[in-house]
Amino acid sequence: MDFELTDDQKRIRRVAREFAEAELGERIAPYDARHEFPREIVGKLGPLGFLGALVPEDYGGAALDYVSYALIVEELCRGDASVGITMWAHNSLCTNHIASFGSAEQKRRYLPPLATGEVLGAWGLTEPGSGSDAAALRTRAELAGDHWVLNGSKAFITNASVAGTAVVMARTGPERASKGISAFIVEQGTPGFSTGVPYRKLGLHASDTAEMIFESARVPAANLLGAQGQGFAQVVQVLEGGRIAMSAMAVGVAQAALDRAVTYMKQRTAFGRTLAEFNGLQGALADLATALEVARLLTLRAASLKDSGRPAMHAAAMAKLFASETAMKAATWAVQVHGGAGYIAEFPVERIFRDAKLTEIGEGTSEIQRMVIAREILQL
Ligand SMILES: Cc1cc2nc3c(=O)[nH]c(=O)nc-3n(C[C@H](O)[C@H](O)[C@H](O)COP(=O)(O)OP(=O)(O)OC[C@H]3O[C@@H](n4cnc5c(N)ncnc54)[C@H](O)[C@@H]3O)c2cc1C
Repeated sequence: MDFELTDDQKRIRRVAREFAEAELGERIAPYDARHEFPREIVGKLGPLGFLGALVPEDYGGAALDYVSYALIVEELCRGDASVGITMWAHNSLCTNHIASFGSAEQKRRYLPPLATGEVLGAWGLTEPGSGSDAAALRTRAELAGDHWVLNGSKAFITNASVAGTAVVMARTGPERASKGISAFIVEQGTPGFSTGVPYRKLGLHASDTAEMIFESARVPAANLLGAQGQGFAQVVQVLEGGRIAMSAMAVGVAQAALDRAVTYMKQRTAFGRTLAEFNGLQGALADLATALEVARLLTLRAASLKDSGRPAMHAAAMAKLFASETAMKAATWAVQVHGGAGYIAEFPVERIFRDAKLTEIGEGTSEIQRMVIAREILQL
C-alpha cells in the first residue's frame, strides 16, 4: 500500500490549487450574491485541461487518472464549490458518459469541443417525479423514421442552461423500471428542447441548475448512446465516477471550512485569549481534521480502485457518504466558531455552509448511499 502521490499527481494538484487561490474564493462571492454563472472564470478551466480531464488524448483530452482528477475537484471546491460542481458535472457525467459509451463517430463529433471547454456538458437523469428511484423516470423517446422524439422533463440539472451538449436518459421500451431506458446526446438548439429559468437555490448560487423540457424534441437516430435499453446500465457506471467526484467536492468544501475556522481562531480573542487557545475548540478541530483525512483517504481509495479497473461502487458510496457528512459537520462547526460573524454573508463560511448541504443530496442522498453499502454487505 502506497499513500504517496506521484510527481505528476502532485504537480496537477499544485496547478489546481494555484488556480483556485488566484481565481476562486472571494472572487466568486459577487457571482454567488447575484446568483450569476461565472462564465469567464469557468472559461479559464479549458486551457488548463480541466474540462477534458477524463477525455482520451485522441479526442483532445488530458486523459488523467481518477486520483489526479479527484485532486483537481478537491482543490477547485476548496476554492469555490459552484465552480467545482460546474467542472465535475461536465466531466464525470456528460463527457465521461460519451467517452465511455459513445460510438467512434459520436466521440469524434462531441468530445473535442467538450474537452477544450468550447462547449459545456450537462447530464439529465432526475425528473420531477423520480430522483432516488431514478429507474422510475417517465421521459419518453419514440423512434420516428430517422429521429427519436422526446417528451417529458428533467429537474435540477447542473449546467442545463449553459450547456451546448447534454446526455439525457429516456424510456424507449415498454419494459418497466430500468430495462427500457436509453441514453441520448441532445444538442442545445434541438427543436422542441428548452431549459427553464435557473432555480434559486440554498447554496451553489454561482452554479447553473435548471429544468430540461422536451416537447416533441427531435433528436437524430444517430444520437442514441450505446445500445437501446442499455441506458440504465450506463447510468450505474457513470454514477460510480460521479460519486467519487462528489466525495472530492465534499473533501474540498470541508477543507475550506476548516481553513476559515483556523484563520478565525487565531485572530479572534475572547476572555483575553485567542479562540485557538481554548481546549474545547482545539478538541473539535482535531476531531474534524481527522474525519477530513479519513474522507480524503476514502475518496482517493475509490479513485485508485477505478484507476486499476476494479469495481469501485461500494468504495465510492462509502467515500461519498462519509465525505459529505464530514463536509456538513465541518461547515456547521466553522460557522459556530465564527459566532455571529458566521451568520453574516460577508464571511465566507456562510457560503461554504450553504454549499456543503448539496453534497449530502446530489449523486444519491446519504440514505441511498447507506442502502448501496448495506445491500453489498448483505449480498442482496
Ligand atoms: C443543486 C443540484 C444539482 C443537481 N444536479 C443534477 C444533475 O446534474 N443531473 C441529475 O440527473 N440530477 C441532478 N440533481 C438531482 C439529485 O441527484 C437528486 O435531487 C437526488 O438524487 C435526490 O432525488 P430527489 O430530489 O428526487 O429526492 P427523493 O428521491 O424524492 O428523496 C426524498 C427523500 O427521501 C429519501 N429516500 C428516498 N428513497 C429512499 C429509500 N429507499 N430509503 C430511505 N430514504 C429514501 C431521500 O434520501 C431523501 O431524503 C441535482 C440536485 C441538486 C439539488
